[in-house]
Amino acid sequence: MATLDPGALARTAPLYERVKRVIPPFEWAVFADDVDAILDLKRKRNAVVLAHNYQTPEIFHGVADIVGDSLLLAREATKVDADIIVLAGVHFMAETAKLLNPAKTVLIPDLAAGCSLADSITAADVRLMRERHPGVPVVTYVNTSAAVKAESDICCTSGNALAVVESLGVDHVIMLPDEYLAQNIAAQTRVKITAWKGHCEVHERFTPTDIRQLRENHPGITILAHPECPPEVVAEADFAGSTAAMSGFVEKQRPPRVVLLTECSMSDNVAAVHPDVEFIRPCNLCPHMKRITLKNIRQALETDQHQVTIDLTIEGRARRSVERMLAL
Ligand code: SF4
Repeated sequence: MATLDPGALARTAPLYERVKRVIPPFEWAVFADDVDAILDLKRKRNAVVLAHNYQTPEIFHGVADIVGDSLLLAREATKVDADIIVLAGVHFMAETAKLLNPAKTVLIPDLAAGCSLADSITAADVRLMRERHPGVPVVTYVNTSAAVKAESDICCTSGNALAVVESLGVDHVIMLPDEYLAQNIAAQTRVKITAWKGHCEVHERFTPTDIRQLRENHPGITILAHPECPPEVVAEADFAGSTAAMSGFVEKQRPPRVVLLTECSMSDNVAAVHPDVEFIRPCNLCPHMKRITLKNIRQALETDQHQVTIDLTIEGRARRSVERMLAL
């Protein structure tokens, strides 16, 4: 049963103003106590919360200090001046934060917050790809384990994948593990790309038929797609880009009616700050992202669970792959 603390409600009222378009008052009454407690714990423990764009609005707008896509979170993790980082996202993001902050405590509120892309490939798979394609550099999406990053030459995100591929000055790269991201990048470059067969379980569900139905049911709609969607979906969309690029598109272009073909909460978070834009919201949830809640963020700050650690035998090589990307 929710605690309806009038003090917590009053203290969090300014935050509620930011999310009132996407969270009804009775729901905020349920969240206020945990939001208030998390803000207090962050101050007392010198902690920050980094939240991915796919987190729910009460986390994204309510308790996060830094929000963004994987690239922004990785970059900002290098600048954090705090003793504790709580990563409101999935496990590979917490590992990346730990790689870049080896001396800090990095917490993930639920250890089971995984990712279908990260689970699709192992370090042994990367070594096998290298044997099959001798001398071809390996570009690895950040949505992978530290062990896979350690076997790679350089990391990329959906926001910088094209620039990373072209920065290597070669005519052939291996790009792991997202097959659709690799195909979408291959369509924009002369570099030959050999892909893996991994897919994001959220984005692979969008189809060209969805796009046609959206255009039929919502005349004049602008359709933005994430590059983890299949190439035939990206081909029919009006714009394709990372979550940061989609957010930037809405900010700059202010389309009257828009749909973001990506994880469900992203639309809520962008809609909360753009009351002039109508968002059509087909809802594909990421079950891994949704493991993170206000309750387990609060628990993480109260109990220091779950601390992220990286095997010392891979730490240095994995960090080098991330840092090479950030240096671009
Ligand atoms: S949305 Fe897709 S890529 Fe992102 S964490 Fe979930 S499964 Fe992984």
